Parts: sequence; C-alpha cells; structure tokens
Amino acid sequence: MIKETFSPEETFALGEAMGRTARPGEVYVLIGDLGVGKTVFTQGIARGLDITEPIASPTFTIVQVYEEGRMPFYHFDVYRIGDLEEMEEIGYEDYFYGEGLSLVEWGDLIRELLPERRTEITIEKDLDKGFDYRKITVKEVS
Ligand code: ADP
Ligand code: MG
Repeated sequence: MIKETFSPEETFALGEAMGRTARPGEVYVLIGDLGVGKTVFTQGIARGLDITEPIASPTFTIVQVYEEGRMPFYHFDVYRIGDLEEMEEIGYEDYFYGEGLSLVEWGDLIRELLPERRTEITIEKDLDKGFDYRKITVKEVS
C-alpha cells in the first residue's frame, strides 16, 4: 500500500487508522530519515490505540511503554543505539513477541533482531512535490 500525505495531520490520521486495526503482537518498523514524520505517525498510532497521554520520542530510554490503551504499546526509537546488546539488556524479545503492539522508529538499524513477520512503514520526502509532501509505503513482511 502506498499513501501520499501533504500535511502532518494527514500522516497522523493514517497512523490513527492503522492503530485502530492493529492486533496484539504486531511489530511495526518505521524507516525514514530524521524529520520525515516517524514520530508524527507514531502519535497517530497511539491515538488509534486510545492512548491519551502525549507521545514523545524515547530518546534516552530506547523503549517507552504505554499501558492505558486498548493494548500495551511499546514505542522504540533506536536511533542512538550503540550496539545490539543494548536491545538484549532491555529484553526486547518480551516486547516483540509479547501481547502488545511494538513500533520501532529507525528499525532498519536493528534489522538482525526484527521478527520475520512484521510491517515495514517507509516514509520519504520528495521536495519536488512540496515541503510537506510525504510518500508512505506500508509493506507486510514474513
Ligand atoms: P522523525 O520522527 O521522523 O524524526 P518527526 O515526526 O519528529 O520526524 O517530525 C516530522 C516533522 O515534519 C514535523 O515537524 C512535522 O510537522 C513535519 N511535517 C511536514 N509535513 C509532514 C507530513 N506530511 N507528515 C508528517 N510530518 C510532516
Ligand atoms: Mg522520531
């Protein structure tokens, strides 16, 4: 599936729609450069899970856990990860193979650890189409 958005609100809405249909145990991998809209999309996902508390990027913790929605939400941002052992230390498998929805910003940085079955969401800019244009490609992998 390919979607094009022209504002942060549209990207948020796409995330929200996907959050509404997410099932426990799914893993969403967000791929895209800094400032492309991964966190905006994630905030939409959280809304779609009925999470009301604000979502920020878990810059210093790798993973942030939200329990208030219709399933647990595990929000990873692995941009600053030094090596894969940091993922082992936080027990990432309990999240990826658990009963909540996992979402990993910069997931391609930990490709070796990603479950075979996952949904990859790639967000790209195309400045020819405007500053706020984003192409969002959703692909189920297994
Ligand atoms: P990332 O998490 O990928 O580093 P953020 O979500 O934190 O990026 O920031 C994306 C920035 O791009 C925000 O300032 C947002 O307002 C802006 N933006 C402009 N157009 C869009 C769009 N179509 N979709 C998402 N974000 C957009
Ligand atoms: Mg981010």
